[in-house]
Parts: sequence; C-alpha cells; structure tokens
Amino acid sequence: MSHELAVYAAHEKFSKGRQTPESHPGYRSEFQRDRDRIIHCTAFRRLEYKTQVFVNHEGDLFRTRLTHTIEVAQIARSIARALGLNEDLTEAIALAHDLGHTPFGHAGQDALNHCMRDYGGFEHNLQSLRVVDRLEQKYAEFEGLNLTFETREGILKHCAVQKAKELGELGLRFIHQHQPSLEAQLANLADEIAYNNHDVDDGLRAGLLNFEALVEVKLFRDQYELVKQLYPELPKRRTTHEIVRRMINVLVNDLINSSRQALTEANPQNSDDARQHQDALIRFSAPMRQQNLELKSFLRHNLYTHYRVHRMTKKAAQVVQGLFTAFFDDSQLLPNEHHEKTRVAEKELGPSGKARIIADYIAGMTDRYAITEYKRLYEPLQLT
Ligand code: MG
Repeated sequence: MSHELAVYAAHEKFSKGRQTPESHPGYRSEFQRDRDRIIHCTAFRRLEYKTQVFVNHEGDLFRTRLTHTIEVAQIARSIARALGLNEDLTEAIALAHDLGHTPFGHAGQDALNHCMRDYGGFEHNLQSLRVVDRLEQKYAEFEGLNLTFETREGILKHCAVQKAKELGELGLRFIHQHQPSLEAQLANLADEIAYNNHDVDDGLRAGLLNFEALVEVKLFRDQYELVKQLYPELPKRRTTHEIVRRMINVLVNDLINSSRQALTEANPQNSDDARQHQDALIRFSAPMRQQNLELKSFLRHNLYTHYRVHRMTKKAAQVVQGLFTAFFDDSQLLPNEHHEKTRVAEKELGPSGKARIIADYIAGMTDRYAITEYKRLYEPLQLT
C-alpha cells in the first residue's frame, strides 16, 4: 500500500474474511488477491466482447464492458487514494462490478429477466455475485473465487429484502438499511461518472448526439464553452475529448471535495462506523448531483432511446428470448455439460432450477456468441 489509509478506510486486518478460510497471501494484501482472482477469471475476459449501449460488432472504437470496467477502476482508484480509502479493495470491486451482465447490455438483462419472471427473475447485480461465488469453477478447494466479504459486499449494490434474507451476513445491510463500505460507495459512483461520460463520447462518435443538443446540459455546456474559447479552431474529435475529460475532472473533484466534507462532519472512527450512517458519505454536492441527473436524463431521452439504438435493443431482446425459449423447451439443445446441469437442477428444484442454469448459460455469453448460437438454433441451413 503506497499511501496512508484513513481510519474510516477498510483495513484487511478487520476483514470479515472469506467463506472458505485461507492463509494470508504473503506479498499481497487480501484485497489485492481478490483483484488478481477477478482479472484471471473467465467472466472477466468475456467483458471484452460484451457491450452496454452499442452492440459489439458496430465498430472497434466504442467502449466495451471491459474498457468501461477499466475506466471505472481508474477513476475509483484515483479518488480512493485522494480520500485515503483502501485502493486495492476499491479496485477489486470496480473490476468485478459488471461480471454478471448478459450480452447486449440492458436490453439483454431486461429480456432475460422477463424470461425468468416465473422462476425468480434475473438481476445482473445478483448475477455478478453468483459468478464470483459459484459459477467460476477453477480452484481445487472451493467453488467460485472465494473473495473476501468486503469485495462481495461491494459487488452487491442493491438487493430486494426478500432476496437479502437468502444471502446470510451479506444480505443484512439491506434488511437493516445500512450503507456498504466507503470503498463500495465510491466504486458505485465511479461507475456512474464513467458511463455517463463515455456514453457522451461514444454517442458523439456514432453521430447519435451532437453539440447543439448537448449544450442544453449544464455539465456539458460549461466545458464546451470553455474549450471553444480556449481552442476555437480545434477539430471536432479533439474538442470532444477536451470536453469529456474536463467533465470527468469536474465530477471527480466535486466528489472528492464533497465526500471530504461529509467525512469531516460525520467523523466516522472506522469502516463499520461509516456503514452506520443513514446517508452515503461518499457523495456529490447537491448542485453536482442535480447536474449529473440532468445529463443522465438527457442520455436516456436522446441516446438510449434513439431509434438506431432501439433497433439493436429490439433485436438483442429477440435473440435472448429466442435462446431461452429453445433451451427451456428442449434442454437437449444445450451443450452436454449444461444439459447435465439442467437435469440435476430440475430434479432438485423443479422448473426454476432448470431455468436458472439456462439463465447462467445465456448470461455468460458474449454478444457475438449469443448471435451465433441463435443462428445455429433458428437458421435451417446452419448445420453445426
Ligand atoms: Mg458498470
């Protein structure tokens, strides 16, 4: 650890530990070990071929879930260091936060949730936890990655009370309405900073957004006017980058200053103390929260529902729905290993057991693998 930890930071010596106890990792901290296990897992590599807004094959310049994840980790680490929080834990949470996402981003998640409506539903956040707790099967001594409580707590951003009751100690905070660690709060906001800003950048690159409309949004307008004034002749791509990097910087600075102030006022004496506060102590100032909301709402109305995005969304939903229906109606269509799992799960838990194995299989697919599987199942001339 190259920087001083504040009293309210997570300390590994007070960690609630791993589900299967292990000896200390030696030259690394416990949270560094978590980070390393996440980077080496299969679901992490698949992030390269999954997307949130743009489907993977639409172009090579758009963010994928992997580059998004790296941006979140970078933003989160910088802020963690500035606030004296545990940078290793923050990084581990950030790197794992999207592991449970389906192919095709939110369209895929909504479609799969719809397919699973009678079998317990599908939620990407819970799925991320399921990936690290159970689905990664690599280690001899345990299922999943056997991560520390603190990393798992950070991955589970939200959870319905009913579900929380099934999760033991990890679910307690949703029942008692406590906050997660400050590191988890930070990773969550770093996610927002990253996607709002890179969606502006990708939206402009794709020609779905333009400066004229974006200047409605104060966060954008302030930086646009400044960059135009400083560099009136700058080409459009460089102007975009200058604006976006400044927007990120404004948000990061506000988050650091406002959180510092909240921490000074609340004066938590340790990490658990910080969890007891009714409000999150890692937070934007009220005006910046407002500006951030304005940007989010702009993106919702102008990018996520743009007809070109919507067409892809519709097709993505069709692919996920088609895969689920085919596998559920005839699970012999699944590759042997997954078929065997559905047989065991159905015997134990009935149709919802089978449905869950199919949802795991679909959620684990990359965009292009899902499209290929769909074609294999539905195009009569595809023989393999
Ligand atoms: Mg994310």
